[in-house]
Amino acid sequence: MRIFKGIAASEGMVKGKALVFRRASMAAERRHIFADGIASELKALAKALGEARLTIEEHSHSQLNSESRQILEAHLLMLEDPEYRNQIETYIRTNLVSAQWAIEEVSEQYASMLAQSGDELLAGRADDIRDVSLYLLDAARGRRQEIELRLDEDVVLVADSLMPSELFALDKKRILALVLDGGGRASHVAILVRAFNIPAVIATGRASHSINDGDEVIVDGNWGEVYVRADFTAAQLLDERYARWQEHEAELQQMVNLETQMLDGARVDLYANIQGPVEVDGVLASGASGIGLFRSEFLFMESASLPTEEQQYQAYKAALERMAPKAVTIRTLDIGGDKIVEELGIDEKNPILGWRAVRFCLSRKDIFTTQLRALLRASMHGNLKIMFPMISGLEELNAVLHLFEHVKEECRLEGILFDEKIEVGTMIEVPSAALCADILAKRVDFFSIGTNDLIQYTIAVDRGNEKIAYLYQPFHPGVLRSIKMIVDKAHAEGIVVSLCGEMASDPLCSVLLAGLGLDELSMGVQSLLQVRKILRSVSSEEARTLAEEVLSMDSYQTIHTYIREWMHDRFDHFTTI
Ligand code: PEP
Ligand code: MG
Repeated sequence: MRIFKGIAASEGMVKGKALVFRRASMAAERRHIFADGIASELKALAKALGEARLTIEEHSHSQLNSESRQILEAHLLMLEDPEYRNQIETYIRTNLVSAQWAIEEVSEQYASMLAQSGDELLAGRADDIRDVSLYLLDAARGRRQEIELRLDEDVVLVADSLMPSELFALDKKRILALVLDGGGRASHVAILVRAFNIPAVIATGRASHSINDGDEVIVDGNWGEVYVRADFTAAQLLDERYARWQEHEAELQQMVNLETQMLDGARVDLYANIQGPVEVDGVLASGASGIGLFRSEFLFMESASLPTEEQQYQAYKAALERMAPKAVTIRTLDIGGDKIVEELGIDEKNPILGWRAVRFCLSRKDIFTTQLRALLRASMHGNLKIMFPMISGLEELNAVLHLFEHVKEECRLEGILFDEKIEVGTMIEVPSAALCADILAKRVDFFSIGTNDLIQYTIAVDRGNEKIAYLYQPFHPGVLRSIKMIVDKAHAEGIVVSLCGEMASDPLCSVLLAGLGLDELSMGVQSLLQVRKILRSVSSEEARTLAEEVLSMDSYQTIHTYIREWMHDRFDHFTTI
């Protein structure tokens, strides 16, 4: 038996037979040339570029899924990048080698540079470069890129690497799970498998070298583990874990079309958090009431240049159209903090307290205005709500709202249609905003509490620093009192309060949050049905009593222990927590 540990890239537990795909070497023709051969290699390169372009375009037209098309469009942009072409041409001229050799070398240099950048997002783009170079090499070799895999039966696909285009080309229904040697959670393949709901463990090291075709493999995408040829005892344990998981999943699936209604009829609507339109299919399948948080910075972080108004409009429109009539709450650019983008000149000593989110946007009005225009245009295609991150007080909120009104006015003058009744909200994730909730509530249609940051700033504990992670406590009385105060102030002004931090997806917090009075919870779709199941099993009265009891306690340890016991008493199967 062998166990591979990797990154849990997409949730689920699946048992099946392995089908191993190891990318044969690109087999570029490695040929030295004389100086008089340069012209013909440059010509071969130009021809390959043109043909690869046609192939990608063709591929793109055959994709029904607009996210798949977007990724292929990104590949097209890379293919057309003059710098990429220049470097290949220079490589041919300086090293006197064949076009194929130069394509392979230059692409690998680009890809390795990204892979080693230490930035998960950039590392994810390395695969895209390799993908584009495959198109190009195949065009240069005179044959179309085709993955040598036919999926005639359901398999666990084990690969050294897999390109988004290869995943598109495969019959996704036949892929029970995916195991990759490399990759990062933010790579396009990882994003896509989550969107397709395929359990996946990635960054396993060398799984594809140790697993053989036909091996029985168990992939646990919840824990990031892959078991190969499990021995008898482990197999038994895993069988039980597998059966429990299956039972659990089947039970949860029954919740998809149900309301999140508590025993006495009180409702807490559950929404989904997404990073881009690629996740909309998953949201539609999850039974969510809509999208409560669309982190728009994803669009800005995935490409080397800033997305244009048109590109943003298309992305927002895609999500809105498919979700309609359900609401899509798009948060304006929350860049900075732990999301550093050096191209934007954000590089600070103390970024968490620095030039972040609306602070950045208000000083880069060009970027902010472009986004607001794109949002306004997109508002005609569905039920859009807009919210602003990191608001710290009234002046900042007023400045943002003022600019928003100005952009609206500009659109009116230009005859651009938009939803005049568009709802606008603010995130509450800075303690000063929490303390001024009554003031801010008068200016907006809704609040969304960002507990990831609210906890960080309330307890003064960097959410990304492992050394002080023990202090990062959602059950800290200061955090719970803050949430309660925000909810009460919002309700006093008659506005809706959502909570979209990770607390919303933690089943241990579900009843407490309902008891604290949240109207909506927004979370990653994987947790949604579990939270719905829990909330449907208690009454709002029980939840309120729990919240009251907890609010009178003096330490997070006491609260944590109390809630764990409370949940264990109520739910027999509270083992997943
Ligand atoms: C939050 O702070 O809780 C939140 C949802 O925003 P982010 O995690 O993107 O900062
Ligand atoms: Mg936040």
